[in-house]
Amino acid sequence: MKEYLKRRLKKKIIVFVLSNLLWVLGMAVVIVVMSSMFMAFQSSEESVSSGVVSGNKNLAPEVLAHKSTVEKYASEKGISSEVPFLLAIMMVESGGKGLDPMQSSESAGLDPNGISGPELSIKQGVAHYYQTLQNAKKAGMADDKKAIVQGYNYGSYYPLWLQQNAKRHSVDVAEMYSRDYMAPIQRANGFPSAGTKYNYVNAVSQKDGRTYLYRDSGNFFYAELCFQYIAEGSEGTDATGDLQAGMDGFVVPLKNYTISSPFGYRILNGAPDLHRGLDMAANEGEPIYASKAGTVTISTTHKSWGNYIVIQHEGGAVTLYAHQSRLVATVGRQVKQGELIGYVGNTGDSFGAHLHLEMCKNSSLSSDMLIDPQPILFGKN
Ligand SMILES: [Zn+2]
Repeated sequence: MKEYLKRRLKKKIIVFVLSNLLWVLGMAVVIVVMSSMFMAFQSSEESVSSGVVSGNKNLAPEVLAHKSTVEKYASEKGISSEVPFLLAIMMVESGGKGLDPMQSSESAGLDPNGISGPELSIKQGVAHYYQTLQNAKKAGMADDKKAIVQGYNYGSYYPLWLQQNAKRHSVDVAEMYSRDYMAPIQRANGFPSAGTKYNYVNAVSQKDGRTYLYRDSGNFFYAELCFQYIAEGSEGTDATGDLQAGMDGFVVPLKNYTISSPFGYRILNGAPDLHRGLDMAANEGEPIYASKAGTVTISTTHKSWGNYIVIQHEGGAVTLYAHQSRLVATVGRQVKQGELIGYVGNTGDSFGAHLHLEMCKNSSLSSDMLIDPQPILFGKN
């Protein structure tokens, strides 16, 4: 899509949503009903997810030149771990060129080209991303990075739309958003040809097989375009040698934390209850590092542990990292000590972002085999 049209589209949508909120909400109900009817017919197609385009492309030097500015504003918002995604977005938006490298003037409520320079563009672009991330957290999908990145193109409302329609982001679902949600709004807003297909041919669309987009209705390949620049395993920086050393070769798996609840028996609802691990409160998104080298044996979601990872260490002991906002390390991965494995979150049985760390003598994770992590990490008092 031409940059001008895209800016105009994004601005139009924001103005439209703000000024017609009730109408939009009513429309959303209709669309939910319609799309659930539609989904009944489409369910077999829906289960075939599109291939993920692997991230092996390099960021342009013009983007890397803005990296420290992106890091500055991401840090101000407490989202330093999002820098790789912000740089990928910049790469797709502008290649790092021009006065508005994040193409963020419209989300500031300014005219296209109303951004006076790269720094303001980046500041506003980070704020727009942050708002989408907040909505993703509200929608319980802070770990769905593609949904958040797609929201940079679709508007920060996108994760909430996903939640209301009981969906996770995929190219199929994003296409539905363009065609069934955005296009009708655009048509009602004075773009009569919104929603008609036009040719869109590049490496990403060709690999997918759909070489089209819907006019005036966003780019449903946007997250895929950006993720070309997110290499697997390079989402964050490892912390080898940079973490507080404990005993038996373990290190403290967080850099910034406060111990909030010890291991051991506590009284819960009048009865003794074993707290199986050590709770370390930290900001949502704080990186979690492997306490010791080993093999990732579990990386999944559990009702009470939330998103969690188990690492099997040499000699038999395992460590477990619960309530993560997002898992990075996958099953079978050989991790080094200090390698980034995921991010602190508030998933599962959790009240406030924290890492619940368990240590067990063996892989059984049975309660009589658990060890108190505190003396191992911090020594006996
Ligand atoms: Zn805990």
